[in-house]
Amino acid sequence: MAGVAYASATTSVFAVIGDPVRHSLSPALHAAAIRASGIDATYVAFEVAAGSAVEAIRGATALGLAGLSVTMPHKQSVIAALDALDPVAARLDAVNCVSFAGPVHERVARGHNTDGDGFVDALQHELAIHPADHRVAVLGAGGAARSVVLALAEAGANEVIVVNRNHERAEQAAELAGPRGRVGSVDDVSGADVVVNATSVGLGTAEGNRNGPLPLDPAWLHSGQVVADLIYHPAATPLLLAAAERGCRVMNGLCMLAHQAARQFTIWTGFAPPVTEMLAAARAELAVRAHDAG
Ligand code: NAP
Repeated sequence: MAGVAYASATTSVFAVIGDPVRHSLSPALHAAAIRASGIDATYVAFEVAAGSAVEAIRGATALGLAGLSVTMPHKQSVIAALDALDPVAARLDAVNCVSFAGPVHERVARGHNTDGDGFVDALQHELAIHPADHRVAVLGAGGAARSVVLALAEAGANEVIVVNRNHERAEQAAELAGPRGRVGSVDDVSGADVVVNATSVGLGTAEGNRNGPLPLDPAWLHSGQVVADLIYHPAATPLLLAAAERGCRVMNGLCMLAHQAARQFTIWTGFAPPVTEMLAAARAELAVRAHDAG
């Protein structure tokens, strides 16, 4: 109930496992969701070393945890410990969320992946863009790109074009979109309605640095396009700065992060997610960190 000041035997315990996990925004996002929903729950972060995901799931099952967020490096290795996978997690062979169901001695641990749908939700809620009937170019073919490619195709995108340095990985990612997917090159970017940077190029660049690394030449971008970067640190990546200068509408990765967490919250609790509060909490946490970093 709202107002419980301590975790009791009836408090639902949610957690994130990852390594590193100290800078994860998941605790801020989920604490905001718990607060806004007034449920008796808490959310903590566990640093779990690479190679220990299976033990972590067994421990979480035995301890009766109510749900887990899963981040790097465990998104694939955790699968070996799960009893079931939802269809999206099975297609991606990657899990970012575990739910637990059933009585205490027969608990079923099920893997989900909310990353791609979180991206599509972010496009819809933050920019009022629905992928249906749009042509999308996705730069990158790693775990994040794969989840976005699948979700865009499932949401009805006309075409999902994967542009990646490594051709084999590009083909594997494009296959996730079925007949709507294909491997492309930067030549395809100017014809896309939506361009998504799902590479790690630009990650950690100093805020406001216009000369930072770019995943493509901004000359391919023009007004009328939407450019989304999955990176949220910095908030304004070199790509987003360049895209905005060329008249594109832009979105960084914080909205995706909030929406994928919102979907996890609903999987665990059945409650409608308070996304506005979650996003505000993530922004506040980032502002505190920026202030502390001087
Ligand atoms: P990943 O699996 O390691 O994939 C990295 C991708 O970036 C690969 O496609 C790689 O290309 C490409 N890449 C790396 N360096 C490059 C370079 N110098 N030039 C061109 N391409 C390069 O990583 P991931 O987990 O997919 O994450 C990708 C990005 O998404 C990261 O910045 C991460 O922080 C972000 N992300 C955001 C969210 C969110 O909620 N906002 C969620 C997940 C991830 P090759 O295949 O050719 O090596």
